[in-house]
Amino acid sequence: MALLDETPHAMQVTTRNPGDGSTVATYPLGDRAAVDAAVERARAGATWWREQGFRGRRDHLVRFKAAIATNAQELAEVISAETGKPGSDALIEIMLTLGHLDWAAKNAKRVLRRQKVKAGLMNFNQRATVGYEPYGVIGVIGPWNYPLYTPMGSISYALAAGNAVVFKPSELTPGPAVWLAEQWARTVGHDVLVTVTGDGSTGSALAASRVNKIAFTGSTATAKKVMATASQRLTPIVAECGGKDAVLVAADADLDVAADFIVLGGMGNAGQTCAGVERVYVVDSVRDELVRRVVERASRLRAGGPDAHYGPMTLAAQTDVVRRHVEDALRSGTAVLGGPESIGGRTIAPIVITDVDEMSDAMQCETFGPLVVVNRVTSLDEAVRRANATPYGLAAAVFTRSRATADRAAAALHTGAVSINSVLGFASVGALPFGGVKESGFGRIHGADGLREFSTAKSVARQTRKAMVDLSMERTDKDVHMVARMIPMLHGRSKGSHQ
Ligand code: NDP
Repeated sequence: MALLDETPHAMQVTTRNPGDGSTVATYPLGDRAAVDAAVERARAGATWWREQGFRGRRDHLVRFKAAIATNAQELAEVISAETGKPGSDALIEIMLTLGHLDWAAKNAKRVLRRQKVKAGLMNFNQRATVGYEPYGVIGVIGPWNYPLYTPMGSISYALAAGNAVVFKPSELTPGPAVWLAEQWARTVGHDVLVTVTGDGSTGSALAASRVNKIAFTGSTATAKKVMATASQRLTPIVAECGGKDAVLVAADADLDVAADFIVLGGMGNAGQTCAGVERVYVVDSVRDELVRRVVERASRLRAGGPDAHYGPMTLAAQTDVVRRHVEDALRSGTAVLGGPESIGGRTIAPIVITDVDEMSDAMQCETFGPLVVVNRVTSLDEAVRRANATPYGLAAAVFTRSRATADRAAAALHTGAVSINSVLGFASVGALPFGGVKESGFGRIHGADGLREFSTAKSVARQTRKAMVDLSMERTDKDVHMVARMIPMLHGRSKGSHQ
């Protein structure tokens, strides 16, 4: 069998600052052998980690968290250097990350410890319990847009659930991953959090390795490749993929609040947010006012430069996607702020386009840049229908003063999360699971579901006394007669339940 590292390539990855193109650092390019060695090291680490128990792991994770917090400024610089995002954005990313690490560390025992469940009338003689056990080693493959928050959404929950982790960061942003591994080595030690740097081939080697589960975050196209590779060993995966998230604005919405959040979700981090705002559906009666307020706010933003609200595009090639979507949108729509001329090299000024054909690429495919399209609708029901009409289903937001309207829309939106009167409102809530439906992926990180995602349920039924009916090979005609009488008694009624 050919080894992946036989493919000719440079044996290093070099990162550059997207702002000025200067070299940031050079890292080893992990080949198949390096990945397999990392997985074996992590397997040994997993044994030690499991032995620490819930209490021990919690204490270690809290110390790890404190070490990150103490050195947050240094980490923010590491994040900014490779992504190009302003230091303030990097600090916010660190704060959100630590909130999840804290929640995972402090809730793992409550969620995952062995607990009694009702065995039911027929099983009165069984003491039934379920406990959640770690998989072993989790392979985490992360993207570059939030190189700390996003992979740590998997790593924190995987570690808290008792697994060791091998982390393959994006080749654009290995810095935060290497920094994390150093902090781990310093505060906890043992090979429990191991980082392997490299490129797509390194990720592929990780998906092919003997890890017990893969947590992938990135594009839908790559998720399909990872899934195909992982299927060779029947390795399960959780896939956090892209989105085409919509904001729905009702006639009774607070338009200032809606405009603030549309600009934050659409333009923040240069639009490179998986659950950011790409489409807006606004009810006709308030459409002009909303567009005016969005344009007013977006036009005040500074892109790139030292005092910027957001930085350049981290991935140079993404600029071409944004240009293509802007040109595509302008075939049917109208630019109300910026246009193709806003795309100056790696830095893109905010672009707002209205009344775009719903079937265009600009409305159906992920743009991942500071472009927001605003389309008018006749009702919030129409907004929901349009919001649901893409292959993606990550998140959505609804702006209205009516709780009933918001609840109805939230129930009808085919997404993994909904924010009401904000965008990304769920991202900082430790208890809320995060993940998509349709081509935005499957499985959940964050919250109790996120802890269980990195665990396997083990059921134990302990017989405490003799059964009511003997179902063994020694059963008598009397026992069988009893079963025949019990079937209609227990299950014959179409209403109610015995359990
Ligand atoms: P990619 O899909 O290009 O890459 C994601 C990761 O997969 C990277 O580490 C990449 O390595 C690695 N990779 C590439 N090829 C393979 C392969 N064949 N096998 C295994 N791993 C591979 O995504 P981006 O990094 O460009 O991130 C942007 C995407 O991520 C957007 O679609 C965004 O919406 C999504 N995203 C989703 C989030 C969510 O939680 N739902 C959160 C954040 C982003 P390398 O970079 O070294 O090539």
